[in-house]
Order: sequence, then C-alpha cells, then structure tokens
Amino acid sequence: MNQNIEKWMPEARQLAAQCWCDPETENRTMDPALAEAAAKRIAAWMQTAAEFSNNESFYRGIVCKIGEMFGVEAKTSDDGSVQQDVLALKVPELVADLLAAHRGVAPRESKERAFLNGFSAMTDLTYKTHVDKGWTNGADPENLHWRGNQFMLMVGELAEGHEALRKGLMDDKLPIRLGEEVELADCIIRIMNYSRQRGLDVASALVEKARFNEGREFMHGGKKF
Ligand SMILES: [Mg+2]
Repeated sequence: MNQNIEKWMPEARQLAAQCWCDPETENRTMDPALAEAAAKRIAAWMQTAAEFSNNESFYRGIVCKIGEMFGVEAKTSDDGSVQQDVLALKVPELVADLLAAHRGVAPRESKERAFLNGFSAMTDLTYKTHVDKGWTNGADPENLHWRGNQFMLMVGELAEGHEALRKGLMDDKLPIRLGEEVELADCIIRIMNYSRQRGLDVASALVEKARFNEGREFMHGGKKF
C-alpha cells in the first residue's frame, strides 16, 4: 500500500469500524475484511483531502504574500475596519487596479473603489487621533447645535485657508507646505471625523455626485460662476 495512504490507516480503520456501531447496523456481525477494504478507501480520501489542504495553504500563502505588498489596503474590510491579516478576496481586486493603473486605462469603477477604500482607511487613522486627543468627549452627534458647530469649524479651516492665500502664508505647523493646502487638508480631516461620528457615507456621496456632475450641462446651464 502507498506509504502516504498507510499513515492514515489507523484512523481510517476506526472510522470504518464505526459502521458497525450505528443504530441501524449495531446488531450486525463485524466483517474484518470488509472493514479493512472500507478503511483503505477512507484512507485514500483522507490522503486526497490532506493534499488539497496543503495545496490550499500553499496558494493562499502566495496570495497573502502579494497582499502584504499592498499594505493596509489589502487588510481593510468593506466597512473600513483594518484587519490583522491580508483579506485574500481583496488581492485580485488590488492587482487588477494596479495593472489597470499601470496600463493607464484604469476603469472608472476601479478608480472609484480605490478612492472609497482610501477614504475609509484614512478616516480610520484620523478618527483614532480625534478620539485619542479627547475631541469626542462630550460630543453629541444627534444634537443639531453640535452638528452646526462642526460645520462652522469646517468653515473655519476654509477661512484660515483664505487668510493664508491673502497673505501668501506657508503653513505654521508644516512650514514646507502652503497654508492653502494644509487648511484644505484640515477641512477634509474634519469632514472625515464628522462623517464617521454621524455614520455618514460622504465618500460614496462624493462618487455619486461626481457622476451626476458629469451629466450636467456646460457651466450648469449658463451660470456665471
Ligand atoms: Mg487649520
């Protein structure tokens, strides 16, 4: 008998013997030759299953190795949470996006998906900082006044950007960057944190609105600006 199959025989013999222990067969006389013949077939299937399992681990390992090259993107679930291990299902998507980008023909859907994943993953990071720094203490996302204040804080960032433009300022925290760009970034961070706190899907709304805008008339039907 094949050595690979032989190693499964003790367990296979036990399984075969159990055929004489079922309620329907427990009164029948055990047939050792028949039990051995059944055990051989069970052992062969056990060997086949083990080979499949080894192959599965081997190929899964390759997929995960490729996923690791994509970093956090390959570990981010659709709900935005970041997992410890690579999500094998995401790897073909990411490879397809990369290939499409490399060829310069990324289809609209893959660009949108990349944006949604990126927005979600970045929101995880900004929101964690938001919480860690105590900015969610006393927050009441259901309260209209609280919400209104958050909107005005976003406006505040744009006003700071306006001031930076007016005076030609570099940013005071990131001095190698224009105030113009950092205040816009501040505003987006506030939008990310607010949307997470309110459970809003701003990223999907942006994708849908961008599509809608594509279908609008030139200058939106004659507006001056
Ligand atoms: Mg600011």
